[in-house]
Amino acid sequence: MADFLFSSERWSPLLWLDGLRAQIPTACVLCNGRTQGGGLCTGCIADWHYRYKQVRWRCQRCKVAQLGGVARAASQCQSCLDSPAVLQQLAVAFDYMMPLDSLIWRFKARHQLRLAPVLARMMQQAILRDGWSLPPDTQVAYIPSRPSALQKRGFNPAAELARYLARLLGYGFMYGALGLQQQDDGNAQKHRTQQQRRHYAQHAFVWQSARTPSTLLLVDDVFTTGSTLQAAAQCALAHGVSQVYGVVLARVPWIM
Ligand SMILES: [Zn+2]
Ligand SMILES: [Zn+2]
Repeated sequence: MADFLFSSERWSPLLWLDGLRAQIPTACVLCNGRTQGGGLCTGCIADWHYRYKQVRWRCQRCKVAQLGGVARAASQCQSCLDSPAVLQQLAVAFDYMMPLDSLIWRFKARHQLRLAPVLARMMQQAILRDGWSLPPDTQVAYIPSRPSALQKRGFNPAAELARYLARLLGYGFMYGALGLQQQDDGNAQKHRTQQQRRHYAQHAFVWQSARTPSTLLLVDDVFTTGSTLQAAAQCALAHGVSQVYGVVLARVPWIM
C-alpha cells in the first residue's frame, strides 16, 4: 500500500495548482477571510505566532507548552531532564489546540489534501523561528503509518507533509526510509500507557534505505509523548545517520 494518495506523476499537476493558487486571491483556510496563496490570512498568521509565544512556559527541548500554573525555572521539562537527548532539535509549528487543530482534523480525517502545502509551510516557519541551520545535504524522511491507519485513511499525513517540506527547504526527500518492524496488532497507540508506548516504539522501526544521510530531518504530524519520533531517530542513528532533527505540526500541551 502506498504512503501517498497521489503518485509522483500525479503530484506534479498538484504543485502546478499550488503555484497558481499562490498568485490569486483566496479565502483563508481558517477564518475564510481574504488572503492570497491558499493559506492563512495575515490576521491568522499573527494569531498563530502570538499563541505560540503567549504560554506560561515552554520546554526548550520537547517544546511542550504549559498553559497555566506557575512557570518553571528550568529550561527543560522533567521528562527531558530525565532522558538523554536523541534529537538534535525539535521544531513545533503550533500547540494542538483550537483553532489550529481543526486544520489537522480537516487534513487527516476529511482528506483535505490542499492543506498539505499550507501545513508544510507552517512547519518551515517553525524551523525558521527556531533559527536552525541544517547542512545542504540534509535528507527529509517521515514516520511511517501503521497499516490499519493507511488502509483507513488512504494516505500517510506525515509523508505528504514531508514531501512538501523537503521541497520548500530545498532538501532531498527519502521515500520509505523508515518502515515498521512489527505487524500492526490493532492496538492503537492512543490506548497504550506511556510505558507501553515506549517499549513498543523502541522495536517499532526498521531502516529500509540503502543510503545513509549524514543529517536527517524527521517529519511527523502530531507529537504526543515523543516516543515515536525518538524511536525512529534511534533507528536512524543505529544505521549510521550522524544527526537527526525532528519537526512536527502540533505538540499536545499541558493544560493546568
Ligand atoms: Zn484567517
Ligand atoms: Zn521537555
